[in-house]
Amino acid sequence: MSNPRGPRVAIIGAGMSGLLASIRLREAGIADVTIHEKADRPGGTWRDNTYPGLSCDVPSHVYTYSFAPNPDWSRRFSPGAEIQAYFEGIADRYGLRSLTRFASEIAELRWEGARWHLRATDGHSEVADYVIAATGVLHRPVMPDIPGLERFAGAAFHSARWNHAVPLDGRRVGIVGTGSTAIQIVPALVDRVRHLSLFQRTAQWVLPIVNDPYSDEEKAGWRADPARHRAMRDWLAARLIDTFARAVVGEDASGLAEIERMCREHLETVVRDPGLRERLRPNYRAACKRLVMSDSFYEAIQKPNAELVTDPIREVELAGVRTADGTLHELDVLVLATGFDGHNFLRPMRVAGEGGRTLDEAWSAGNRAYRSVVVPGFPNLFMPVGPNSPIGNFSVIEISEMQTDYILRLIATAEAAPRRRIAPTERATATFNAAMAARMSGTVWASGCRSWYLDRHGRPALWPWSYERFKADMARPDLADFEVG
Ligand code: NAP
Repeated sequence: MSNPRGPRVAIIGAGMSGLLASIRLREAGIADVTIHEKADRPGGTWRDNTYPGLSCDVPSHVYTYSFAPNPDWSRRFSPGAEIQAYFEGIADRYGLRSLTRFASEIAELRWEGARWHLRATDGHSEVADYVIAATGVLHRPVMPDIPGLERFAGAAFHSARWNHAVPLDGRRVGIVGTGSTAIQIVPALVDRVRHLSLFQRTAQWVLPIVNDPYSDEEKAGWRADPARHRAMRDWLAARLIDTFARAVVGEDASGLAEIERMCREHLETVVRDPGLRERLRPNYRAACKRLVMSDSFYEAIQKPNAELVTDPIREVELAGVRTADGTLHELDVLVLATGFDGHNFLRPMRVAGEGGRTLDEAWSAGNRAYRSVVVPGFPNLFMPVGPNSPIGNFSVIEISEMQTDYILRLIATAEAAPRRRIAPTERATATFNAAMAARMSGTVWASGCRSWYLDRHGRPALWPWSYERFKADMARPDLADFEVG
């Protein structure tokens, strides 16, 4: 490294990617690192989401840092609280809390004098050579634009802002939405509540999963034999890539057909009432929306106190939800499982790059990065899990690990240059995005459905190529595509 002073790095966000970046930076000998976290605890989405039934539908042994395996996961798909405990444990084990300014929300990033100037909402400001914006994808809840929502006399809250003070037992609960979140909430609540109304706008394909607990013997075996544990983890990861990642990007038509067949068989065999079955049957291709996985949703929605409401919601009233057919569905609690804005990267931060040009200006026609992690005109700013990361395809932790190693290589390259500056060229970014757009039409996400994957221009915000291509792209930056120094 040619610079006499060591680099100073600011990380924004103490979620999965922010914790990871801080660990990797310190391993690389970069000690001057601060994490800025707007909340009072690490964990990101696993801290924010605490709804009943929360789990991760990526197998837990895969949804784990490669360098911190956990032989003690309770199940193949472990509950959210266990995942949050894992990240808190990582923060403790690696001493990351002392690097973190909690309750510090960065409001502005400004590139001036060849460094980034950060300003937090509490007035704190600092300067860094590099910024890693690990601000996540699914953390800005979307409130539905349902008329009258504010008139509801009961408790109403978004699934990611669960109000645990509100009693549920023996009450009438409505849930709006049928995404991964709602499909997990329904089985967790149905036996507790008096009546459960699920307001479905669009039916979902539901892939059956098996989620048995791991035995004490299995866990002890993995603890005693890390190589065997690793082999089991690799086997699970390979299945995810072989069966799913290739199918969704259009590289394995028979794999996609098989996913759809499994979903259809699940529906046909578990849902007994033909009328209900038809109302639960989607009219688009499986995996066009993010595929929902469950071992218990279809059973739960058939319970005598559960009701699938498919008439569109007209409005919310004092006493409940009125649907278009005129029925008033009386409720005590209304849960809005209406998802997140997955296109709002870095916002509401104001980010001003070279020449004072803001990220909003640079992205006025849509989010556009080079290889998901860097943007022309915004030197030394890196975004793990940025635009078009393969988040619909495989474990986001593995993605973030590869991107973080790539970012560290870019930082090392800039450190060796006299002005410690690195940014992708406009030309390389345009070429990359044009190739991506051309490839997108072959993916299942563009096959005709509404989903949060699509940006406001209707373009899927995912990675349209294979896992192998992503791995190869991340293995080593092509420095011909960068301006350095
Ligand atoms: P989502 O998939 O975006 O689903 C939102 C649901 O709300 C959809 O069913 C949508 O209907 C409905 N909706 C939105 N506005 C509405 C309105 N005005 N009226 C009626 N219905 C409305 O959100 P999510 O379930 O929170 O999941 C988001 C993502 O988070 C997932 O796709 C996944 O990536 C991640 N997640 C993962 C897990 C996991 O296990 N790994 C668990 C939970 C969440 P339409 O379908 O008609 O638009």
